Amino acid sequence: MVSCPQCHQGYLQEREDTQGNLHITCSEYPACRFESVSWEAIYEDAARFRHPVSPGQMS
Ligand SMILES: [Zn+2]
Repeated sequence: MVSCPQCHQGYLQEREDTQGNLHITCSEYPACRFESVSWEAIYEDAARFRHPVSPGQMS
């Protein structure tokens, strides 16, 4: 289970629309409107968020 990078409350779940396109949404929807089209995009975002804003403050 991957927790939501936006609200940190829900977890991400996949669903396919009628065209067969993958949507990854938060289990807390509609309270949380997080949505992504691919796990790759989510991991890229997560990597960006983890990047230290001030070098040296990473534990
Ligand atoms: Zn969420």
